[in-house]
Amino acid sequence: MPRYDIQFQKGLSLREFMARYGTEEQCVEAVRMARWPHGFECPECGSTRHCHLSRGLFQCQDCRKQTSPTAGTIFQSTKLPLAVWFQAMHLLTQGKHSVSALELKRQLGVCYETAWNMKQKILQVMLEREARTVLSGRIEVDDAYVGGERHLGKRGRGAAGKTPFVVAVQTDPENPASVLHLRMKALRHVAARDLKPWFEVGFTKGSTILTDGWQAYNFLDEAGFKHEPHKMPGGWRSSKHPAFP
Ligand SMILES: [Zn+2]
Repeated sequence: MPRYDIQFQKGLSLREFMARYGTEEQCVEAVRMARWPHGFECPECGSTRHCHLSRGLFQCQDCRKQTSPTAGTIFQSTKLPLAVWFQAMHLLTQGKHSVSALELKRQLGVCYETAWNMKQKILQVMLEREARTVLSGRIEVDDAYVGGERHLGKRGRGAAGKTPFVVAVQTDPENPASVLHLRMKALRHVAARDLKPWFEVGFTKGSTILTDGWQAYNFLDEAGFKHEPHKMPGGWRSSKHPAFP
């Protein structure tokens, strides 16, 4: 089996995860730091003068408003410990394969409905975060089909019954094998009219876009990008191309 470097990218090991987020106190602290990295700030009046109440609540000493660090986050009003939420986030994000709600239920020791709801909320915030990510710099773009390479039937662009999608990865300019950000979108057709709106919102003008030179990408120069087409062999062989590590 070939070894792909992407599969060996460093993640957060279970041991590291437990060391950082193993206790409820550590998770509460992590949420608080993410929310108020420079210390508490009252969402009502902006004051930083506060005192601590029970159940992790903060009280503003100017307007007296009580605020929970989880208010307005996906953890708001949850009855579960934050440590369980953090475990769910770890399980959903560290694996190469998707994790079912049933698997979450088993691993976390919660009921199925709870596991299902947690999964929906976590995936939704990941989706919203990705939608706001704007790629820039050196970006590799390619389109593919759900179902992948098949030995029977027509292969590649235009194959019947397959859903095309496009993937863009922003790589580290110092090390093109290292992926910084990724965007994906399902398309009706791999055509300029479907690709253009996607490039308009998610990519900084002036970025260098590497493609396999398929005609649908010809609009890129005119749209304000530096298009770098590379002639590619088909299918998985393109992953061996030096421009597309
Ligand atoms: Zn206040």
